Amino acid sequence: MAWIGWDVEAVDWELDKGMDLTEPEVQQKYLKLASKAKVSLVATPCDTLSKIRNRPIPGHPNPPLPLRDADHIWGLPGLGDRDRKKAEDGNKLVEFSLQYAEKVDEAGNGVLLETPLNSWFHQFPRKKKLVARSNWVQLQYWACAYLGARRKGQSLFSNMEEILDLEVPECGHLHSEREWKPWYCKDLKKWVYPSADEAEYTAMLAFAMAIKSTQWAIKHGKVKLKVPPMIQPVPAGSRLGWAELDPASVRSKAMRPMARFLGLDAPKRSQCKWLPVQDFAPVVTTRIQWPEVWDEATMVYIGRGYRCFLIPLRARQA
Ligand SMILES: [Zn+2]
Repeated sequence: MAWIGWDVEAVDWELDKGMDLTEPEVQQKYLKLASKAKVSLVATPCDTLSKIRNRPIPGHPNPPLPLRDADHIWGLPGLGDRDRKKAEDGNKLVEFSLQYAEKVDEAGNGVLLETPLNSWFHQFPRKKKLVARSNWVQLQYWACAYLGARRKGQSLFSNMEEILDLEVPECGHLHSEREWKPWYCKDLKKWVYPSADEAEYTAMLAFAMAIKSTQWAIKHGKVKLKVPPMIQPVPAGSRLGWAELDPASVRSKAMRPMARFLGLDAPKRSQCKWLPVQDFAPVVTTRIQWPEVWDEATMVYIGRGYRCFLIPLRARQA
């Protein structure tokens, strides 16, 4: 969103441990944003909600256990203290996400929620009630069509009908049958879960969501921004071998190339403080050295570089 020109406030426990949305006072603080934020994108942590926990892992001496089933979506009876706390925290985050989305909707602003297709999230009564509202749409897409490595069905629901353009009903890729299999890494001496690699949005998906949300906001007079053309998903082709690549190569590391591809300028720090410093506009600086010898006195910098890159006027005149 920031690359398109939005001012963005990110709320994420990973960025700041004070943003713990299981805490009632933190929830109250952010519920106030519901009427102010013109568009909100909500991704509820799915670690306690995924049905992947209900699949056995052969050879694992201490696998993650199921926390829910179809009759006990709020948590299985008889869970140990640690697992019960996990399930309860998951419940709080689901309820907060839905309460926040209801408030955004009632304020006339746009909201988009994203969760895996195989999540217990869909069974929560409040979720069913929300998507039953007449202005809401719901769709599915395959994350691999937005350059994810593995075949992963995802769900989006929103009061912005433009989101329907993100739909990818079929996965036509070649995938490895072992791509989701957890494995024991001898070097790290721990089990590796491929689901963790796929949790973060790919750059392609992030821009596609941002583009459609911005189109909605422009149509409803919320913002005046230039919106890039829609990214087209890739629902067919081979994904063999992709699972061995660095997951960041199609995520954080792909944000800048994708933005350039779409003709977007780098955001300013004032729009979103949490982005890596390399993403901000001031770093886009070209250094020219003539003659080709490292000499601070003769270097010339072109672009909106850091102040520390500026050379004194006396040196430049020389
Ligand atoms: Zn696929």
